[in-house]
Amino acid sequence: MMFKERQTIVAYGRRMLSVGLTVGTGGNLSIRCSDKLIAISPSGVPYETMRPSDVPVVDISGHAVLGKKKPSSELPMHLAVYQHRQDINALVHTHSRYATALSCARMDLPPIHYTIGFAGSSVRCAPYALYGTAELAEHAVTFMGNGKAVLLANHGVLAGGATLGEAFMIAQVVEYCAELFCLSRVIGTPHCLSAKEMQRVIRNLTEYGQPNGS
Ligand SMILES: [Zn+2]
Repeated sequence: MMFKERQTIVAYGRRMLSVGLTVGTGGNLSIRCSDKLIAISPSGVPYETMRPSDVPVVDISGHAVLGKKKPSSELPMHLAVYQHRQDINALVHTHSRYATALSCARMDLPPIHYTIGFAGSSVRCAPYALYGTAELAEHAVTFMGNGKAVLLANHGVLAGGATLGEAFMIAQVVEYCAELFCLSRVIGTPHCLSAKEMQRVIRNLTEYGQPNGS
C-alpha cells in the first residue's frame, strides 16, 4: 500500500542529504495521495538506512494507517498545510544553512533573484514556536499564505508543491536565493526585484519547461 509514495520519500530523503539540504536525521518530507492518506518520513531514522516499509502512512487527522515507526515530530505542520491548501500535495522541511540563517535574523527572503518566483514573490519568516507544536503549524500556514514556502524563525524552511519533486526544487531554490541574499549583503547592498518585475517573472514561470511536460 502506497509503496511508490513511500519509496519516493526514501529517495528524496537521501537526495536531501546528498545535496546538503540537511544533516543527520534533520528535516522531513511527506506526500498526500488522492485518497487523503499521507506518507511521511519517520522520526529519527537515518536517511541512508531508511526503507519504504519504515515510512508511516497516516490519515488527514494524523491517525496511523500503516507502518510501525513513529511519524516525524513535524506531522502537525504537514497536516495543517494539507488541510488549508488543496494545491499542495507534497512538503519538504529542511534546516538548510542560509535559509535558516535568515530565519535566525527573523528576516523575510526578498526577491533577490527571479527564481524565487517558483515559491512566490518573496518568502516570509513566521514567528518562533517550539518544533512539533500546533502553534508552529499555525504560524507556518499563516505565513506561507498563498506561496509555496515559509521560513520558520530559528528553525528552518518549509516548501510545498504539487509533487515531491516540485517541493524539493522549491526547497533548493529558497536555499539558493537565501545564500545569494546573505552574500550580497556581505559584499554590498542587495538590490531586489520590484513587485512589478516579480509579477512578470511569475507570469513567465507558469509557462516554464516543455509545453507537453516531456
Ligand atoms: Zn525542523
